[in-house]
Amino acid sequence: MNIQITGLTKTYPNGHTAIKNVNLEIGSGMFGLLGPNGAGKSSFMRVLVTVQQATAGTILMDGLNINEHRQKIRKLVGYLPQDFTFFSKLKTWEFLDYAAQLSTNLKKKDRLIKVDKLLDQVGLLDVRDRMANKLSGGMKRRLGIAQALIGEPKLLVIDEPTTGLDPEERIRFRNILSDLSQQDVTIILSTHIVGDISSTCHNMAMLNKGEVAFKGSPEGMIDQVRGHVWQVNLDDEEFNILKTKHSVVSTIPVDGKWEVQLIATDQPHPKAVNANPNLEHAYVYFMENELGVSLV
Ligand code: ADP
Repeated sequence: MNIQITGLTKTYPNGHTAIKNVNLEIGSGMFGLLGPNGAGKSSFMRVLVTVQQATAGTILMDGLNINEHRQKIRKLVGYLPQDFTFFSKLKTWEFLDYAAQLSTNLKKKDRLIKVDKLLDQVGLLDVRDRMANKLSGGMKRRLGIAQALIGEPKLLVIDEPTTGLDPEERIRFRNILSDLSQQDVTIILSTHIVGDISSTCHNMAMLNKGEVAFKGSPEGMIDQVRGHVWQVNLDDEEFNILKTKHSVVSTIPVDGKWEVQLIATDQPHPKAVNANPNLEHAYVYFMENELGVSLV
């Protein structure tokens, strides 16, 4: 699916503008929307899946204006909201079957085949008879993905799926998404966790205070910070001075000193040397500098 977003703005009735003039083009595969809490990611996604309306701007999905074709668009979209909750009285397979009844026209026999196929795909077949509300946090998220997939969407929108998951579950979740992105489906994933993006997405945007601070590839974002990441060993006094002037990204105590990595446009200390940048450095750089839309 090709999604063209032009001049998208969302102002809530209380006057707060959560998304400001966002322009993005999103193609097939996995697209990452990175940003801190409050950046506007959920607001953006709710508009995208037609749960709420934009104040201004247009979204075209494969050429269809989503405001003019809401019903058609809803059939193309699977959505896993951040606050996804389950009915307490249903077993895992029953929950998914219920979702299938809502979003497909399949007969019972075909539905059940599909339910088990999806449970297998997200690694929940073993727990199909467990009550859905008794699943672990990671399992619930995976069941959330299964319900979003049941209508065979062309676009899958997933809001902060890895928040609160332990590292093993987070990796498992990322792997499921990577597998899905090999199929003919566009996936938009929002997160404030840099590792979610670097391990799954070739295309991304960073939102900050409702505005696009960067769009391009993770590698392109890293390139922007190259030459601005520094490493230096400092004593307590030097460290205390430098940390008031620059964004410190890591400190490791080494032999009574501090091995410090920090972000600075110019060399922050005579002994500082350039360090290899990564996406976390770039994230801090864009957050601190509020650079506006990048040049890529
Ligand atoms: P994120 O998903 O990146 O954390 P949100 O889209 O949830 O960001 O929120 C962006 C901003 O919009 C925040 O300042 C939030 O308080 C505000 N906001 C979100 N929803 C509403 C609402 N329904 N009414 C008023 N303000 C809202």
